[in-house]
Amino acid sequence: MSDRGITVTASRSAVVGEQTLRRALPVRAHRTVGAWCFLDHFGPAAVGPTSTLTIGPHPHIGLQTVTWLIEGEVRHTDSLGSDQLIWPGQLNLMTAGHGVAHAEDSRHVTSGTMHGVQLWVAQPEHTRHDAPAFEHHGELPVVSLGPAVATVLVGSAAGETSPARTDTALMGVDLVGGPGEVVLPLEPTFEHGIMVLSGSIRIDGVPVATDDFAYLAVGRDEVRIAVAADTRILVLGGEPFESEILMWWNFVARRRDEVDEAYRDWEAGADRFGSVATDLARIAAPRPSWSHEPT
Ligand code: MN
Repeated sequence: MSDRGITVTASRSAVVGEQTLRRALPVRAHRTVGAWCFLDHFGPAAVGPTSTLTIGPHPHIGLQTVTWLIEGEVRHTDSLGSDQLIWPGQLNLMTAGHGVAHAEDSRHVTSGTMHGVQLWVAQPEHTRHDAPAFEHHGELPVVSLGPAVATVLVGSAAGETSPARTDTALMGVDLVGGPGEVVLPLEPTFEHGIMVLSGSIRIDGVPVATDDFAYLAVGRDEVRIAVAADTRILVLGGEPFESEILMWWNFVARRRDEVDEAYRDWEAGADRFGSVATDLARIAAPRPSWSHEPT
């Protein structure tokens, strides 16, 4: 649906590990919003054998993973030697660059609810070949915004700036609260996307339901959001990305030969991706669909 410069798309279901989740990015209409190239919303779901966020070692190239929990906790381990528990209100930011591997483990969580988002940020040409890195931010800027509370995950919003690394001009903010109207100033050179994680909103009168994703084109200096009671949304923005990207499995690249090389390196256990200290089983890479190599 498109109205007044706003395009609303329903997310689709996807299965990752043993979990069903809603994927808002990428979609056909919007492969990227700024450098944001992937957005999965998981839960809320009771902790149990089919709802835990547990994923064995797998590789990434050319992207940053951003983990943001609303409920629950997850242990992150990676080939840099990181071993980090994350709780709601905190941010894990892993930069893959040339190559990294990681695992996410919530097997230690035996009761409660898992709820959160997993995001990817495409790295620009000037950093995507660099060494990997990992950041954990235990505290992020929090600010009142009318009837809502805003937490700035990445970049700047509502006058606050996150300490998280950014390789391109980018923002991400979690808004929770309502009912009432939230007026969020925007950077006019950014395009934006808003995913409703719970509750519902209206933007310029256009309804956006839970798990819908509203795309706002560049050129806005603010957005007025009518927020229903007990609503949580994620606002993502950034300068339109510098180029087309090629996403295949857990890799973000530009050309097929880069994906082929990453696929071969992971399957060969090459030093490029290092090793992850976990007892979870390593995840095999699917062969790229365009490859005619014998299996
Ligand atoms: Mn991952």
